[in-house]
Amino acid sequence: MARRYLLNNVRLESGFVRDNGWVQRTITQEYTLEIEGDKIIALYEGDHDDPGMDRVNGEGRLLLPSTRDEHIHLDKTFYGDPWRAARGNNAGDIFQMIALEEQLLPRLLPDAQRRTHRLLQLLQEKGTTHVRTHCNIEPTSGLQSLLQLQEALIPWREQMHCEIVAFPQHGLLRSNAVTLMKEAMSLGCDWVGGLDPGKVDGDMVRSLDITLRLALEAGKGIDYHLHEDKSTGIACIRYLLNALRKEPFLQGKLTLSHAYCLAQTETAELSELADEMAELGVSLASGIPLGKSVMPLPFLREKGVSLLSGTDSVTDHWSPFGSGSMLDKTYDWARLYTRGDEFSLNRSLAIATGNCLPLNECGERVWPVVGDEASFILMNASCSAEVVARQIAVDAVYFRGKKVWHKAYTLNNSSCL
Ligand SMILES: [Zn+2]
Repeated sequence: MARRYLLNNVRLESGFVRDNGWVQRTITQEYTLEIEGDKIIALYEGDHDDPGMDRVNGEGRLLLPSTRDEHIHLDKTFYGDPWRAARGNNAGDIFQMIALEEQLLPRLLPDAQRRTHRLLQLLQEKGTTHVRTHCNIEPTSGLQSLLQLQEALIPWREQMHCEIVAFPQHGLLRSNAVTLMKEAMSLGCDWVGGLDPGKVDGDMVRSLDITLRLALEAGKGIDYHLHEDKSTGIACIRYLLNALRKEPFLQGKLTLSHAYCLAQTETAELSELADEMAELGVSLASGIPLGKSVMPLPFLREKGVSLLSGTDSVTDHWSPFGSGSMLDKTYDWARLYTRGDEFSLNRSLAIATGNCLPLNECGERVWPVVGDEASFILMNASCSAEVVARQIAVDAVYFRGKKVWHKAYTLNNSSCL
């Protein structure tokens, strides 16, 4: 029988305090959640008791949505190994990076599962309960990366939602990976991946047509890495958008990952593309790049494009700078796109939670509600804005009604959380 219990003494955001129309503060209220199985089945203001039910003490913690890492590469990380920086051969472009991978992957593969476990543990401690991971599908590792990843994920599927993107990192055409991709999809991958059809494969139309066909045959969506610049990247986006018009099945099932070319696009064209992306349900997964390619993410959101984010390379041969924390992505968002006021900080949380926020723009409590999945995090913080700006650590993680992780040294009675 599903476990039923009360989680009392937690705080939920309940409104904004405004002065002259400007949000000055966020207020919270004490609540008790009743949880049965994987769902929240009742919410009570203040303390609520039921003698027949177990009680778990939330110790006054703020309860927020758990985070979603929508773009990571769990199959080829350095995490869990001694320190090493990004690349050892001065690889300057994608082709040199592919050559580097061809040497590196056979060395990483035998021990890949240990690193994947370590990285997943890190993600969990940072509050993530949903992960979409890309997985290399290419002739160097064949299907080995996928088989190892699938095995590593087995115990984690009890603790987070996991999705796999079959990713022909060395080029779908360039590395002749079409047959492998078909096999990967038949082994249960959730998304068809791809990358740079003009630059890496040298034939945008053929590469995209095959990608689209793979997705239709497998009955799955597409999550496409696009690093090409404006000169070829925009044509790729337009080709995919047109394909979605012809194939309604794929509408709502295309994610563009990175799409840096959108940072180079003039406003009028960007606006037109964003309208079409919103209409066809195309989401954008961005690592929120710092530096020269600042992405026009708030503009895209305003146009109705669904935005996702991910930690991507936590530490690997591409980059050593990841923390594994989606809450750190909210900090990057806030630093790049806001002036640090309470309201903007509050809204910044959306990039980490799949757009799930406790308050709507008017300050009405909209999450959690009865019937929601009981997946959330507990934090020693006064509100979302403080969590975003001060990079507060997570104290406990709940997934589908179960506490899956808590900090070892929480106050007073740590076993309660
Ligand atoms: Zn990636």
